[in-house]
Amino acid sequence: MKNRHDAPGVEHRSLDPTDWADVRRQGHRMLDDMFDYMANIRERPVWQPIPAEVRSSFTEPLPKRPTRLEDAHLKFMTHVLPYAAGNTHPGFMGWVQGAGNVEGMLAEMLAAGLNANLGGRDQMPLEVERQIGLWMRELFNFPTSANGLFVTGSSTANLIGVLLARTKALGVGSRETGLAAVTSPLTAYAAVTAHSCIGKALEMSGIGTQALRSVPVDGDDQMDVEALAKLIAIDRAAGNHPFLVVGTAGTVNTGAIDNLDAIAQLAQREGLWFHVDGALGALGILSPALAPRFKGIELADSLALDFHKWGQVPYDAGYILARRRSDQMDTFASQAVYLTRQSRGLAAGSPWPCDLGPDLSRGFRALKTWFTLVCHGTDKLGAVVAQTCELAQYLKARVEAIPELELMAPVAMNICCFRYRCEDADRVNGDIVADLHESGIAAPSTSSVGGRTVIRAAIVNHRTNHSDIDALLDAVLVCGKNRVV
Ligand SMILES: *Cc1c(COP(=O)(O)O)cnc(C)c1O
Repeated sequence: MKNRHDAPGVEHRSLDPTDWADVRRQGHRMLDDMFDYMANIRERPVWQPIPAEVRSSFTEPLPKRPTRLEDAHLKFMTHVLPYAAGNTHPGFMGWVQGAGNVEGMLAEMLAAGLNANLGGRDQMPLEVERQIGLWMRELFNFPTSANGLFVTGSSTANLIGVLLARTKALGVGSRETGLAAVTSPLTAYAAVTAHSCIGKALEMSGIGTQALRSVPVDGDDQMDVEALAKLIAIDRAAGNHPFLVVGTAGTVNTGAIDNLDAIAQLAQREGLWFHVDGALGALGILSPALAPRFKGIELADSLALDFHKWGQVPYDAGYILARRRSDQMDTFASQAVYLTRQSRGLAAGSPWPCDLGPDLSRGFRALKTWFTLVCHGTDKLGAVVAQTCELAQYLKARVEAIPELELMAPVAMNICCFRYRCEDADRVNGDIVADLHESGIAAPSTSSVGGRTVIRAAIVNHRTNHSDIDALLDAVLVCGKNRVV
């Protein structure tokens, strides 16, 4: 279509539609399809195996010519949507994954329409992100110096925690010298139950996993704080430089919450950075029943959390809350002429998020989070958290009442690990879980507790109810019986 400002004889090429009425109709159909998908999710299998021809339909050559939107959408409906991982489905209990929500989905469309880039500049979308920061400060009782930042997920948020701690320990000058100038090696501490991304963060930070001490846990899977103190003392005696302790608020295997208060006190005495991995559990603080168990989280120097898990915000929406914005600036702010700030105009509003984290271009994750928080309210989100914990207790009670099943770990929050009793149980329980996935009835995952393979059901989904737990157990018993004949 010709633009009225085009030079004569020059064809203007925009990606905008030539027929807005047509794209509007098609857009409404796409929206309706997603409402139908969400409203009728129970009628679908949780997951189904991907047929070879479906998989191979995404190995086509680069598309030189345009495809009509409705044809691309049809391919999505037939070749993508039915073969997604199913974490919207109430029978999905694998790993630790949120279910999303309708308001969050709609907000994603609005954010994409604005095409907002939240790296910086003076724009209202950044005030939405800052609003989330104020709310997180309030929720976790952080001081006014605190500041948050959206990132992909807690893997990145935990990495940022390690990087903030590294700068604090080595000084801002270490941004130039790197680790080469270090004379006494840094050492970090986390419970053996800590998530694997903590080790990965140490790798990526250049410090290396040799510097990570695995602190033993007690019978409740909580970090043994006396053992932590001893490990720190040993490292000091050896001339090492203890700089960081990572507490976990909700371990990935069993949902245990470390004694954050005791770790915080010790970290303070020892001059260590206290980072909390709250990916799974931190938003549990929204539930009044759970909130007291997070005591000490308000003392963290940095806190990683995921809105896309218990917060039910569509992927991805990870978050790092730092106790002092100055620590973020010390680690990430840099000066570049093309990013010069002004006191007015669009280039105002310093500091910008690009001064506070690794990314320059950033999406508008804050909007789907804002919509989710305001449209549902924190009382309801907290009630969903409590409900998932009650369902995990219901699952635990049912497991204990069924002779064929064995409870494998304490149920601290919303995660229940159990298994089918039989010979060669490690192999058989792995098979049972794969059979369950292929049945489409339920999708727990496997894990290892005390070196033994378990069926792990993490109830995160706001749609999951008692009948889904019953269906899971019925299917486990059928699959187990079939496997041991
Ligand atoms: C999920 C999880 C992570 C990783 O978070 P992502 O958002 O998946 O990157 C880290 N720690 C714990 C305890 C988790 O449950």
